[in-house]
Amino acid sequence: MHYFSDSVERAIEELVKLPGIGRKSAQRLVFYLLRTPKEKVYHLSQALRELKDKVIYCSICFNITETDPCAICANKNRDHDLICVVEEANDILALEKTGSYRGVYHVLGGALSPLDGIGPDELRIKELLKRLMATTKEIIIATNPNAEGEATALYLSKLIHPLNIKITRIARGLPVGTELEFADEITLSQALEGRVTVDSF
Ligand code: ZN
Repeated sequence: MHYFSDSVERAIEELVKLPGIGRKSAQRLVFYLLRTPKEKVYHLSQALRELKDKVIYCSICFNITETDPCAICANKNRDHDLICVVEEANDILALEKTGSYRGVYHVLGGALSPLDGIGPDELRIKELLKRLMATTKEIIIATNPNAEGEATALYLSKLIHPLNIKITRIARGLPVGTELEFADEITLSQALEGRVTVDSF
């Protein structure tokens, strides 16, 4: 179905290209924008323009940034010999929120997924290997705990193992506050596998 206005149709067509936006949602958004004051819509379009004009990828870790290197890579107080490998830049946000990590990061840009045509060459694995130095103490693999993330972790650990660098995987298991009976089998079995020694109570 086409509208009377080509501009309305074009806006809908552009929004439909976004992930998770179907035609109905796109229509709702367009009608919302039509009702919104011009100034607010201009702010949105300006923000989108700046996103593409100013935001770049850090040439060291591939975090999203407006300065190269990014603030984390440029921070001399962080441990540059400890590298945490993540799938996407927004994983850095999640880890930074914990406030407990003082190393640096490496963003792969996804996870291995042969069915989707994502092999090692599609990820920033070569770039990771190039970053490793004699001083690199540890690589923490923090890919997602799903099939693709696990395959990526295994691939990376095999690749890095001969380099004599310590490789660790973030501990998986039960989220805090989860009761055993509500945990799915994968989570529970990983929680068992990843058990740690308890010294004393
Ligand atoms: Zn960086």
